[in-house]
Amino acid sequence: MPPRAFPAWRDALPKDRVDVLHRWHALMVENADALDRLISLEQGKPFAEGRGEVMYGASYVAWFADEATRIYGDLIPQQQRGKRMSAIREPVGIVAAITPWNFPLAMIARKIAPALAAGCTVVGKPAEDTPLTALALVMLAHEAGVPTGVLNLISASRENAVPAVADWLADSRVRKITFTGSTPVGKYLARESAGTLKKLSLELGGNAPFIVFDDADLDAAVAGLLASKFRNGGQTCVCPNRVYVQSGVYERFADLLATRVAALKVAPATDPAAQIGPMINARAIDKIARHVDDAVSRGARVLTGGKRLPELGPTYYAPTVLADATHDMQLSCEETFGPVVPLFRFDDEAEAIRAANDTPFGLASYFYSQDVRRIDRVARQLEAGIVGINEGALASEAAPFGGVKESGYGREGSKYGLDDYLSIKYLCQGGLE
Ligand code: ADP
Repeated sequence: MPPRAFPAWRDALPKDRVDVLHRWHALMVENADALDRLISLEQGKPFAEGRGEVMYGASYVAWFADEATRIYGDLIPQQQRGKRMSAIREPVGIVAAITPWNFPLAMIARKIAPALAAGCTVVGKPAEDTPLTALALVMLAHEAGVPTGVLNLISASRENAVPAVADWLADSRVRKITFTGSTPVGKYLARESAGTLKKLSLELGGNAPFIVFDDADLDAAVAGLLASKFRNGGQTCVCPNRVYVQSGVYERFADLLATRVAALKVAPATDPAAQIGPMINARAIDKIARHVDDAVSRGARVLTGGKRLPELGPTYYAPTVLADATHDMQLSCEETFGPVVPLFRFDDEAEAIRAANDTPFGLASYFYSQDVRRIDRVARQLEAGIVGINEGALASEAAPFGGVKESGYGREGSKYGLDDYLSIKYLCQGGLE
């Protein structure tokens, strides 16, 4: 059976799709308090951060509403008399979107918005830990005028994730999968959708290095690390997982950082002073504790934290700084996804770059230096889709977000973000003379 909702949405005037997206954006902003509350209660990030996520997610909707008016084609310079060649861009078709729990609103908004803007229809599945925010978002989209059948969401338990999406993977009408989550699941989706050769966007795990050179502004580096590492309690795919500090500034940087980290306020999301909330679930906190215990057993020094906080609840972990980290520790090769900073020591630039790139992943990377020539060298050599240079806050709807290597492919946001939802059709018209 051919898709039912897709043809009408594909053939709508871009302006009609744009109007719906702008109305959806306005409704998100209007309902920011309720969405913020839902995000924090469901996922655990402090209210102030939940608010930031609502505005961040909404910014993608506004961005792609505007981009939808700029889906240009090309008239190809004439090659032969009597023949006109052109290229137009068309929506790929039905898109399946599968999202994680760490940004329950932003992750799904930044997939649905470009899909709808391009003229695609969507079937989606949010993570089992955070379905409610996604459902609220879809409700607002319908209120904004997204037609019936154009945007469809199902929720499923973890055990039912495989059967929930199995039909989409096998169905030739689903032309694209957009997924944010772990690398093993991304590979599984790529394998399972190969039977119908779907287009894929995969935003997968990272193992981000954060390098502090001797010539860095140390206060700025500490501030950048705090901003990038402790956002959402360290549960983001771009947060630094390995911090490399050059020997000349190692002890001073470690002291400055540990003092600031020890002062972070851990509390429930409902506490207005909270800076770090609970971790998402038991599986997550067990992994964090396992990484810290393993590091300590291999010689890491706990400068602050290093323990669970049962007095607050079963999923709270103290923000932690570990000195003397080494590459035989689990946290050097696996994403900890929690509030733990391991500090590795290095002596020269080549060693830092080698260590930073010594991972199958390549999503975000960061470095701090005030030497302009070094900045150019290091930025070019880091194997990552995103490089923060003297900056810890990278996210923006105007920037291309995505990875290289086993962190996946495809880009979200920016002028490139629509490409993943469009295919190019070449038109060759003859007999014109
Ligand atoms: P995390 O470890 O952060 O939970 P996952 O990659 O396991 O990351 O999950 C991200 C999303 O992928 C969630 O919506 C989850 O339900 C879904 N998911 C997990 N395993 C599968 C699977 N085998 N098939 C389809 N979706 C899956």
